[in-house]
Amino acid sequence: MDNRQAKKYSNTKLILGIAEAVISFILVLLFVWLGFSFQLENYLRQYAQNDYLLLLLFVIVLGVGSSALFSPLNYYLSYYLEHKYNLSNQTFFKWIREGLKGTLVGAVIGLPIILLFYFVLNYFGIYWWLPFAFLMFILSVVFAQIVPVLILPIFYKITPIENDSLKERIVRLSVGAGLKVENVFKFNMSKNTKKANAAFAGLGKTKRILLGDTLLENYTEDEIETVIAHELGHYKKKHIIKNIAIGTASSFLIFFLVAQFHNLSLNWFGFKDITQISSLPLMFLWGALFGMMQTPVSNYISRKFEYEADRYAILSTNKKEAFVKTLEKLTEQNLGDKEPHPLIEWFFYSHPSIKNRIASIESSSSSLQK
Ligand SMILES: [Zn+2]
Repeated sequence: MDNRQAKKYSNTKLILGIAEAVISFILVLLFVWLGFSFQLENYLRQYAQNDYLLLLLFVIVLGVGSSALFSPLNYYLSYYLEHKYNLSNQTFFKWIREGLKGTLVGAVIGLPIILLFYFVLNYFGIYWWLPFAFLMFILSVVFAQIVPVLILPIFYKITPIENDSLKERIVRLSVGAGLKVENVFKFNMSKNTKKANAAFAGLGKTKRILLGDTLLENYTEDEIETVIAHELGHYKKKHIIKNIAIGTASSFLIFFLVAQFHNLSLNWFGFKDITQISSLPLMFLWGALFGMMQTPVSNYISRKFEYEADRYAILSTNKKEAFVKTLEKLTEQNLGDKEPHPLIEWFFYSHPSIKNRIASIESSSSSLQK
């Protein structure tokens, strides 16, 4: 299949994603600049005298407002486009239901974190970034542990792999990596999509490999074995722990910068105090700006990890052909752009393009032969 359709699909998603980010940045800037943020705070104060309650109302109003505003774009990106390219298995009703479920889970997790943040801000003042980054580190460890056992099951049915000969291969691979065999599961990805994927998730006792049913159904056992070996590579190379460490270092830096620039820019917009609720959208703006600057760095590291896991997959299975075939099939099935512009790959891609992955596999296996 030629790459034109995949390119069109990828570029449409990319351009609309960038447009959404830019538009929301400008809208939040105008919201603060034109005094609407201040007015909203004053308006809501008649319903909530307590600052924490007021913050909750403020965040909920903004959240509902922005989802309403972006709902056409959201519909186009996650429903229309997926159907247009024949990638979706969702009916409209199911798409709505999954979206609502995601929002609800996000709110249950996110709103307490926002309240915690506000408590830290009030208690520590300008130094809020230090304890808050520390709390977020603890939370990220907790979340890494509970995601595969508590969060993912809200969205997917996760069951152990049944296929016996596949299990046998997994045993063999697992011995080398030191992961227990019971830790390979499948999840019913096909309820939403025709795309396929696999992941390594969890920390400590909850670490496990997850394979989409879409992958198990359409790939040979050799091919599936190489996918599992790739995920075991992530485990063997401790990528989850490294990601937490890197994420924590970057959140200390970003929160520090946000704290300084929020404080500095308060009076540009007529705010007097960092704890003023209507000034908090300013933190969102600074956070978005520094987060964007950090994106290529974290994607670069993520791509490095992918190359490492690829190398591990080949070394542990000795099935280069099957692995390359799998990557090709996955790229076709997920309509991935085989050859994105190098700058786009550098900035936006958490996984290397297939072209670079295969090139790296070829060069590392030829250096092994030497
Ligand atoms: Zn990977």
